[in-house]
Parts: sequence; structure tokens; C-alpha cells
Amino acid sequence: MDHFIYRDGILHAEGVALPDIAATVGTPFYCYSAATLRRHYQLFTDALSPLPHLVCFAVKSCSNLAILRLLGDLGAGMDVVSGGEYLRARAAGVAGEKIVFSGVGKTRAEMRLALTDGVRQFNVESEPELRALSEVATAMGTTAPITLRVNPDVDAGTHDKIATGRKEDKFGIPIARAPGIYAEAARLPGLSVVGIDVHIGSQLTDLAPFEAAYRKVADLTRQLRADGHTISRLDLGGGLGIPYTRSNEVPPLPSDYGALIKRTVGDLGCEIEIEPGRLISGNAGILVSSVIWVKEGEGRKFLILDSAMNDLIRPAMYGAWHDIVPVGEPAPEAIPDVFDVVGPVCESGDTFARGRPLPPLAEGDLVAFRSAGAYGAVMASEYNSRPLVPEVLVHGDHFAVIRARPTFDEMLARDTIPEWL
Ligand SMILES: *Cc1c(COP(=O)(O)O)cnc(C)c1O
Repeated sequence: MDHFIYRDGILHAEGVALPDIAATVGTPFYCYSAATLRRHYQLFTDALSPLPHLVCFAVKSCSNLAILRLLGDLGAGMDVVSGGEYLRARAAGVAGEKIVFSGVGKTRAEMRLALTDGVRQFNVESEPELRALSEVATAMGTTAPITLRVNPDVDAGTHDKIATGRKEDKFGIPIARAPGIYAEAARLPGLSVVGIDVHIGSQLTDLAPFEAAYRKVADLTRQLRADGHTISRLDLGGGLGIPYTRSNEVPPLPSDYGALIKRTVGDLGCEIEIEPGRLISGNAGILVSSVIWVKEGEGRKFLILDSAMNDLIRPAMYGAWHDIVPVGEPAPEAIPDVFDVVGPVCESGDTFARGRPLPPLAEGDLVAFRSAGAYGAVMASEYNSRPLVPEVLVHGDHFAVIRARPTFDEMLARDTIPEWL
């Protein structure tokens, strides 16, 4: 459920009519609903209660400081995958003790940054990383809390580009080798083993792969404890999928996911961490765009929008589906037209949808891409020198611009022409 609904024939975000935002900030823009973000966070924390737990929002899904502040204020921790994300979480006011540092290629500089300013744990993904972290922490005279990210060799059954838990994926250490590497971690100075980490992929619409992975983690917990390690925390990753269409897909609910966690690892006496991104931010955001032209092609009609693949890359990158809805509610008797929905970028890949039935639309009409809050604005670029798409956060009857659209002057001012030219 989200808070993007028609009222008096106009699509609203909570209490704000989208054309009012468009009149202020121009199009395209991302728009998030604070109430939806809060609700999604709450669903997870309710699902895990009464187990001791921390919901660590995956910053990479939607990293605006205002969003991080909103979730941090509710008590969320953060899962970061770079020094930049770590700094974002800190700048949003999240304590280092609530920040989990994930990622397959952490640099020594990133390790130092997090060790200086505080970190809950590093989720270590390889032996070279383990040794480097030991060196860095020892040189700083400190101890780094760690888990090892294990790769359970489970196929998440999701899009190839976002499956991470199969043995051929670059992530984590093979679970069969975990006992040996935990032994090494225990021997190395400057490290303190606190638990186990696993993350098998994104947009999972079935609980079975989670169940398979978490059962393996439970077995590993018992084995590592028998070997003398302290396993007090289990980081179970993110990945729960969301509905991208109103109709067919029905992904599992956070409550089902919570019940699964209790069933598989709930008796181990561990603190549970999860790292949801998409399920918190995905359906809490939309991308609003205007129709530039309706163009008649050879046997097809193109709806040319002022948003493009540089603003929302998911359709081009993953073949992803986004529901596209007119901001003006169509009359019930309106006869749908069929459009190829495209942006102005000079790539055929700049196609949001082919043969999409939509109500009749004309130049200047506003449309909204639903489910665009996760992996939307964060993946935007300025390709074709289109200034970075702005972001707006709605709270009840108010909205705030939480990232302004750069002016053309600002965009050009970032380049430097050397004096010898
Ligand atoms: C991407 C990622 C997540 C979040 O995945 P979602 O599908 O957005 O929930 C969590 N943990 C790690 C390590 C990730 O790489």
C-alpha cells in the first residue's frame, strides 16, 4: 500500500496534488511519500518483534539525506556499501554504531573512515579484505567488529543482474570454506568476530530461497559456536521483492518474511539484522514526467516524455516494468490507446515500455512512473547533459525539495578547461 492516490480526479502524493509540485519544480522529478516510508519501515520492525533486531536500510536503494534522516529518526540502522554512503548516513545523523558496512571491494581508506567515526560491523567478503582490515585496525590501535558474508549457493530466482547468492556470483565466501576463514579471522589481530552475514539477491518474490539460505546460516551458526566462535548477530541481508504492477505479482509480505526468520534462526539467541532497501523505498517513490510529443510512427504511436533512461534506468538495465499512470485521472469510459513510451535520449534503449495501453494523452500532460523510489534517483546520471533529476519529499499537505535540479550553469561549472587549451 502507498499514499499515491487520485483525489478529485488528480493524482496526489498524500495531501499534495502532483501538478502543484510540477508547477514549482518543473518536470521530471522524483516524489517520495514520508508516510509510506514510515509504514514500510514499521512493517519490518513489527515483523521481527519480539526478537532483538535492527532494520538497517540499504542506503544504495535511495540515499537522499532527508530519506535517511526520516528513517534514522524512526530508529533504523543503515547498510552502506561505500565511503560515500557511510558519510551520507553519518550526515543524516545516524550513529556509527548503527551503520553496517557491506560491499565486495572496500578500500583501506574506507575501512579507516568507518573505524575512525564508528561502525557497527564490517561484513567482510574475502580473505584479502579480512587481512587488510586486520592490518588497518591494528595500525589504528582499534578492533574491527566483523561478520563474514557467506555465499550459500542458493539461486534467488531473480533477474540475473541482481542475483548474488550463487557460487558463480562475485559476492561473499563459499559457505563450505567459512569454518576455515572464521578460524583465520579469530587468529588475526584487530578483529572481533560478532556474527554471520548473508544476502542472496534483490527483488525476490518467493520465500523459498530465503528459507534455504537461512537454514544453512543456522547450521553454520551451530558449527562455528562449536568451534569456539562468538556468533551473537545474524545479518540476513535484504532482497524482499515488491509488486511492480497492480495485477498479477504478489510478493510475500514482511510479516511472512518475519515468520520465516523466526522459524529458521529465531531459536539461536542472536540479534537479527536485516538490510531491506527496495521494500522500504520502492513503492514510496514515483517519477513524474510530462509528455513532450505524441508522435505517430509506422504502425505505432510514441509517447515522448521529458524523462529518460538517465533519470530512471531500470527499464533499460533490467528490462524492468513500471506502471505508468496519467496524473489526471482518466474518465472511466476513456478508450485506451497503445503507446511506446520513450525518452529523448539518443539511444534505442531509452524506452520505458513498448505497446503499453494507456488512456489518451496529449502534449503537456503529466504521467507518473510508479514504484520508482528504489534504484531510481540513485542511479540517475546527466547523460545527454540532462541536469540531474530533482527529488521532492511529501509529508501530509506539505512538500519539500530535498535535492534541487542543478541549473545549466552549475552543471557546466563542474568541468574545467585546462589553461593550455
Ligand atoms: C543491495 C543490497 C541490499 C538491499 O537489497 P534490496 O533488494 O533493495 O532489499 C541489502 N544488502 C546488500 C549487501 C546489498 O548489496
